[in-house]
Amino acid sequence: MKITKVRTVPVWCARRRPYGQVTRTALGPAAISDYTIVFVDTDAGITGIGEVCSVFKRRGALLRGDVDHALAPAVIGEDPFRIAHLVQKMDLTLDGVEEAKAGIEMALWDIMGKALDTPVYNLLGGKVRDRIPLSYSIPFGTPEQMADFAKERVKAGHKTIKVKVGSEDGARDIAAVKAIREAIGPDLKLRVDGNMGWPTAKHAIRMIRAMEPWDLELVEQPLPAHDLDGMAEVRRNIGVPLMADESIRNPRSAMEVIRRGAADIANVYVTEAGGLYNAMRIFAMCEAAGMPCMIGSMPEFGIGTAAQIHLGVAMTNLGPDSDTCGVLYHEEDLLKPALRIENGFSYPPEAPGLGVTIDQATFERWQRNMPAAAN
Ligand SMILES: [Mg+2]
Repeated sequence: MKITKVRTVPVWCARRRPYGQVTRTALGPAAISDYTIVFVDTDAGITGIGEVCSVFKRRGALLRGDVDHALAPAVIGEDPFRIAHLVQKMDLTLDGVEEAKAGIEMALWDIMGKALDTPVYNLLGGKVRDRIPLSYSIPFGTPEQMADFAKERVKAGHKTIKVKVGSEDGARDIAAVKAIREAIGPDLKLRVDGNMGWPTAKHAIRMIRAMEPWDLELVEQPLPAHDLDGMAEVRRNIGVPLMADESIRNPRSAMEVIRRGAADIANVYVTEAGGLYNAMRIFAMCEAAGMPCMIGSMPEFGIGTAAQIHLGVAMTNLGPDSDTCGVLYHEEDLLKPALRIENGFSYPPEAPGLGVTIDQATFERWQRNMPAAAN
């Protein structure tokens, strides 16, 4: 089989606004998701689908140019089953831009699954679990708004609540943790995510210690991505596990976090890793280092979310509850039928490949009136 064409389509969808205003975290505001859908055609008549998405400054729609002008020419004419080779070839073609590479790479798995008539999770080693337990993230708001929203998500079935902290108002962050713990009760898991918002290890340690009385499950990425010495210092000085998120992108950065003792847990992304193959490599490295992993979200639309779920059901060291429910952070989704996300769990599609079908009417609507600026 040969890849004959790579087609890209920019789309956008509004994010949910739980407090009636644009959601914010320490990464900034998030009004919309502007991503790119990737179609990889083959001479066998099989088309693979992928999604390019990014939460960071270089957004999914901007990354489209990297797919069109550099990555597509690198994979056209190649055998789509040679995923390791194509991951390497894309890396040699273009530095970084893992999210763009992931859009093509997940489409290759989709092609392979469709050709072999089996879901992608079987290609990743097969299921070690049937479903993935989900966390839900609570964006900045007043402590009351955040507590009310957390209660709503618990009612929807989530057993883990992630509180976004790392704002400029430390007292508000602490008050929010307290209000949410009081609202959800003692039995559910409560974690905090600094999204790199605290400037120094000392500052982070002081904040985390102030939050510890409300029984934190873990603390996520308190410091900037590059500050691994700081992360290690925080880890040694707090009483809860430390999870690296932004510090881990590709296998190389995961190795650095492991070597420097900068985290107890890894938050792994399919998109940031450059696709499922590299995400699996990160899981394997962390497993060898005795570190559990969870799967983090951009948040993805349904295609990217499906890729995450296939990964999550197949990884032996999946630990803390994951974020494989990006579609819940958007006003609507692109897939018909929708992914099965119920009562705090996401379930893998059982159709061949990624097992996703795009709803054409929604897809066309999502292409109209593309905003000039992201947020
Ligand atoms: Mg995070």
